[in-house]
Amino acid sequence: NEPTIRPRRVFANRSLTLENIKCYGFDMDYTMAMYKSPDYESLGFELIRDRMVSVGYPHELLRYTYDPSFPTRGLVIDTTYGNLLKVDSNGNILVCSHGFCFLKGEDINNYYPNKFIQRDDTDRFYILNTLFNLSETYLYTCLVDFFTRCTRYTNLLKGFQHGDLLMSYRSMFQDVRDAMDFIHDTGTLKERTIKNLDKYVIKDSNLPVLLTRLKVVAKVFLATNSDYSYTKAIMKYLLENNAKPGSPKQSWRSFFDLIVVDTRKPLFFGEGTVLRQVDTDTGKLRIGTYTGDLQHGTVYSGGSSDIICDLLDVKGKDILYVGDHIFGDILKSKKRQGWKTFLVVPELNIELKVWDQKKNKSLFEELKRLDVFLAEIYKHLDSGSSECPDIDAVQTRMKVLTYRMDMSYGQMGSLLRSGARQTLFASQLMRYADLYSSTCMNLLHYPFNYLFMAPPVLVKEEHVKMLLNNLLDTDEGDCLHLCLYKGFVAAMTCLLYKKKRTYCST
Ligand SMILES: [Mg+2]
Repeated sequence: NEPTIRPRRVFANRSLTLENIKCYGFDMDYTMAMYKSPDYESLGFELIRDRMVSVGYPHELLRYTYDPSFPTRGLVIDTTYGNLLKVDSNGNILVCSHGFCFLKGEDINNYYPNKFIQRDDTDRFYILNTLFNLSETYLYTCLVDFFTRCTRYTNLLKGFQHGDLLMSYRSMFQDVRDAMDFIHDTGTLKERTIKNLDKYVIKDSNLPVLLTRLKVVAKVFLATNSDYSYTKAIMKYLLENNAKPGSPKQSWRSFFDLIVVDTRKPLFFGEGTVLRQVDTDTGKLRIGTYTGDLQHGTVYSGGSSDIICDLLDVKGKDILYVGDHIFGDILKSKKRQGWKTFLVVPELNIELKVWDQKKNKSLFEELKRLDVFLAEIYKHLDSGSSECPDIDAVQTRMKVLTYRMDMSYGQMGSLLRSGARQTLFASQLMRYADLYSSTCMNLLHYPFNYLFMAPPVLVKEEHVKMLLNNLLDTDEGDCLHLCLYKGFVAAMTCLLYKKKRTYCST
């Protein structure tokens, strides 16, 4: 549990024996190919910003540059009111900003009287799930900021008025999405990336080592939404020009038993699309649906997870799929196909580092003490009590502590928490990712027969006692899981105080 070792750890939500894994699948973007932050997000931001200006948005927007300290992954855009929201798994609002202005109490209530959103309303609420979304999160915030402050426009509840022109938050959002699709579909972003791979893509000489070792014990496949030519450029860079001195030169394709491009995840984990063969000389797709057996070194396009299982002759439960997209890679492969899942969360390194800071540990200690203090106040009260303890000061102090903890992560706070409350992202991570780590390279630190043990799920009171003893005697900061379970811990701490006498006597 040394801080220096923790960035190399793989965390487990459910127990999993690597020995049972017969097949390892990998996503490419932000999984095997780690993009350099914030250079890559800045590039994305500039391309969509420039696109917005070229379709008619004001030139003043060009003054904005990407600020990596602002956006966090997993935020939600409310396309009706133009707000950026951080929510928990039930849709309760944790943080709300309008442009760069953070809203508090009453202001939030004006928009959301229940401090809650119906996040299933995907037509209105857009979840920024991927690292690709960071640049558009920031651009949308810049747009709201610009129009709110620009005197040429009148602020309305659902947008801005300029002469007889109404610009709604919704249409602005659609324009940002279209600009994003434009830079992806036209290949602008890819082109710029490939031109300057050293600037945008992290080259880790251990990747060929990992894949070579994996291939000895299991089948290995690549399933990416990217097209063939981009995949080829990236994988060549990562695998072919990246071998350790002395090792034989190997084609990037030889590291995999199967390569599938244009997968269109999450569709891939359901009905999928037509499976075609890619002509690796020309990059063109062969016409017709491929129906033959798996041919080594062949690249396929499209298809579905069922077809992959057939071609590789493996069952879903024997596959460990490694990806960075909580929805497209992890949730869908787990829910629809029962695959074992490994979520790559590059932000974990920063999250762990911030969590380890002395300042944060003492803030958390104080939050915990306040929890206990509250429990003490209510200890002797029940439904017959008329006494009404004044807890305003404690609540205010808790809010201040939460805010100060959040700020050490960035302006939108931690990816996983807001004070003691878990974000939607954290709850999905715990529910759908069997394993998670900051990078897939961390698999190198475990033998292929390793048993990952999940933290115990405890409900009975005797178990609660055991858990509490562990938690209260050890330093919670040492384990990321415990920081995810913090809300749970706080609740249990109250329980312990209420049940103190019971525990002492047993
Ligand atoms: Mg990806």
